[in-house]
Amino acid sequence: MPALERCFRYLVLGVVILPSLFAIPSADLSAGDRRRARQHRHVVCPLDLGLGTPPAACGAVAVPTVIPATIPTPAIPRVAAPEVVLLGYSVQGVPITMHVFGTQGRAALIFGAIHGSEPNSGHLARHLLDYLLEHPAAYANRRVAVIPVTNPDGLVRTRRLNEHQIDLNRNFPATNWKISKRGETFGGEKPASEPETQAIIKAVELLGPDRIVSIHAITKGRECNNYDGPGADLAEAMKLENGYRVAKTIGYPTPGSFGSWAGIDRQIPTITLELPVDLPGEECWKKHREALLAVIQFQPSKKQP
Ligand SMILES: [Zn+2]
Repeated sequence: MPALERCFRYLVLGVVILPSLFAIPSADLSAGDRRRARQHRHVVCPLDLGLGTPPAACGAVAVPTVIPATIPTPAIPRVAAPEVVLLGYSVQGVPITMHVFGTQGRAALIFGAIHGSEPNSGHLARHLLDYLLEHPAAYANRRVAVIPVTNPDGLVRTRRLNEHQIDLNRNFPATNWKISKRGETFGGEKPASEPETQAIIKAVELLGPDRIVSIHAITKGRECNNYDGPGADLAEAMKLENGYRVAKTIGYPTPGSFGSWAGIDRQIPTITLELPVDLPGEECWKKHREALLAVIQFQPSKKQP
């Protein structure tokens, strides 16, 4: 073999093949690494549906990443990685993960996309997750957990219901749960029958949060900070930042809803943040960043159970 060709083969082995054998799992990357990696990896993510922003840490399955050797590594300080908790799997087997930041005090729980037809709710939660990964000061002296997508199967199809045609937000074992007709608000044959519902319940039981925001979307003009249980103060704190009205009721009964179960039955301050359904994810983040950061810093005045 000519010397030049041998040299070329060693070059290919060293620069291309060997690094790929030692691909770095995404969970071990620093924030800077992750930012660079987005440009060089394929991520199976329900939010990656031609909706714009590239996925980062949405809790879906990430294919191991190769950082090309030719990209220089600037001196970006590592930030503390969140604790990632696998809560369960959707009907279609998509992992549902919770990202927990900080260690002090009782946690805030914030989750999106329980209705797959409201993708901007997932975008907003994922934006928050990305922000927390790079801004630890946002949760200084606090604890916060984010579940970007709670209904991944519905989100893939931009459909409200899960794969069993059940409205997860009517499937919680609240005292007001009742059997209903099949349709867009069908709450299942029995409460907590769905794996996605069970995953959210598990999150609440593991964390013991003392403030919760479930992000939804609604017809434009009806956006609000809706609260259940002792959530009025938290809703007012959000209103100061996002300008949305505070609503004690959404205007119709919601038996078996998350708010009924967590807010009314368990007396955890619970907000259903209703975004305008047509507001793009980027705009939602600009509009609601401060409100969500206020939730993280908020300390409920009442003693919670
Ligand atoms: Zn909804």
